[in-house]
Amino acid sequence: MSSPDTPRHIPPLLPAVVTVIALLALGAAGFRYLAPAPPGAEVGLDRVRAAALAGDLQRATLLDQDAVVVVVDAAGAVLHAAYPASDVATAQLVADLATGDVAVRVDPQVDKAVVGVLVTVVLPLILLAALFAIVLVATRDGAGAGGVAGFGRLRGRQAGGHDRPDVRFSDVAGIDEAVVELREVVDHLRDPSRLATLGGRPPKGVLLAGPPGVGKTLVARAVAGEAGVAFFHVAGAEFVESLVGVGAARVRDLFAQVREAAPAIVFIDEVDAAGRRRGAGGAVGGTDEREQTLNQLLVEMDGFSVDDGIVVLAATNRPDILDPALLRPGRFDRQVEIGRPDLAARQAILTLHAGTRPLHPDVDLAALAGRTPGFTGADLAAVVNEASLLAARTGATQVTQSHLVEGVDRVRSGPRASQVLTDAERHRVAVHEAGHAVVVAALGRAAEVTRVQAVPRGRTLGSVTLGGDAVLRAAEDLRDDLVALLAGRTAERDRLGSASTLGEDDLARATGLARDLVGAHALVEGLPPRRLLAPRTAGHLGEATDDAVLGADARERLDTAVDAELVAAEARASSLLQVNGAVLEKLVGELDRLESVDGHRLHALLAGIIPPARATAGQR
Ligand code: ADP
Repeated sequence: MSSPDTPRHIPPLLPAVVTVIALLALGAAGFRYLAPAPPGAEVGLDRVRAAALAGDLQRATLLDQDAVVVVVDAAGAVLHAAYPASDVATAQLVADLATGDVAVRVDPQVDKAVVGVLVTVVLPLILLAALFAIVLVATRDGAGAGGVAGFGRLRGRQAGGHDRPDVRFSDVAGIDEAVVELREVVDHLRDPSRLATLGGRPPKGVLLAGPPGVGKTLVARAVAGEAGVAFFHVAGAEFVESLVGVGAARVRDLFAQVREAAPAIVFIDEVDAAGRRRGAGGAVGGTDEREQTLNQLLVEMDGFSVDDGIVVLAATNRPDILDPALLRPGRFDRQVEIGRPDLAARQAILTLHAGTRPLHPDVDLAALAGRTPGFTGADLAAVVNEASLLAARTGATQVTQSHLVEGVDRVRSGPRASQVLTDAERHRVAVHEAGHAVVVAALGRAAEVTRVQAVPRGRTLGSVTLGGDAVLRAAEDLRDDLVALLAGRTAERDRLGSASTLGEDDLARATGLARDLVGAHALVEGLPPRRLLAPRTAGHLGEATDDAVLGADARERLDTAVDAELVAAEARASSLLQVNGAVLEKLVGELDRLESVDGHRLHALLAGIIPPARATAGQR
């Protein structure tokens, strides 16, 4: 992340600064020149006048600009005296001198007059202009840190800041899916012609979605390292300013630098700070600024083609709040989800980080991985680091298992503790997710279940990955979906005695689905074929379903039918779970042990499912 402080923006300022200094020196010299320095000793004007009247003077010279009279007396001594620079006073002096028969000469000092105008009028004007130019240059291009300088551009390490990381994919562990996706980007940057001959179009932008510390920055640097291209690292928040237009200027500035350095990878961390959905409030004021910044980002992304060798990688923990325009083709058209590492991934990460340290033979990284559910790659790196520090402190020459275990405790009790699950919580997540998986399989859709995880992922704690993508759904398919959605909390309730907040999202989706089933599709036997819900305008699930126009009567019918669907679905989930209790038990056991089950292991387990008796499915 270190980058040379390229002083690329200093040169335009340098001439201006030199000019100012030269002008100041010139001015000082000018003033010195202007200061009166007449010959001879200084005396009072009265003495000169008296000497003149007494006939004691030979000659007198009036220095007009200095308002000084220089006289030579009878003895040949040179004296001078200042006189008031008014016409009356001058005339009086000349008259006095004439009375004493002194030869009077007036020196208009033309050169001094010219220098006077230069120093007091022209020089200040030039000085002002030069200062103005400095401020202008500084504001536009920036220079130095802070202040008004550097406003329109990125500061600090980003001042023209990029580096060429020496990170490789081999320095990243446990996020193989992301690496596979990003390898394509590397291939293209290395050899743009290869994909072109195949007619393929590599992505211009890849969005890496996942919680902090899972290695998004690391893998982005690895892409640049593997491809041997420049790496620009900026945070989305750096584009957010309260002054309208500044963020946009920074985006423009960044991409100007990137174009110059291409081929290059631009990594925008926490892009959601700048790329939040437009129009979606939040900030009081500053919305204009955000929109301008986002628009500029869109313009810049449209402004280069992949053939320019520029790829933008962006990281976010909240892909859902990004402006949809960012996700359109030609921008961040590829999304890679990077979740918290599961058991195997954690072991891989630990192995990678511990690999460089002297380990005691008693170290068991697999066991350590088992102790660290919910830890991110950064947490695991911290564990190994803590252990090394502990070992060093105790004077040991090798890192032992107990150092590592102690390291886990230190990291766990750190600020991240809230995201880390206890064993009991993890068991609950396992029961919940296994419940979903078993019921989906029992509904005859085992092929759709590709992976079951009891690992916190983003804001969810576990997941069942379903592969179905049917477009047309019959009433019984929707009812099956309801059963599958409610299976998680039903499994918790049946096996652990109570449900939990884990099922919140499921519940919201199930309720929406049941309302659709009844109110939007009128798929309930015995109810009239009438659409009770207003058609959706926004087209998003759970948004803007307006049934306010319904009479109290119809509303009650809707509510009753929705409740009946949900209760029936829960009962079916419960009975399917009971019939398949043995499989559920085994799957929960596997999840407790491994956290993540997929592939052959999963299918072997689900093969034991007892198919449903269709008769219990009821309606239709
Ligand atoms: P993010 O950008 O997702 O917040 P970082 O890439 O900054 O996370 O990760 C911080 C550090 O944690 C990395 O520098 C690395 O040492 C370690 N780390 C995180 N994930 C991994 C991983 N998958 N493999 C190896 N190290 C990792």
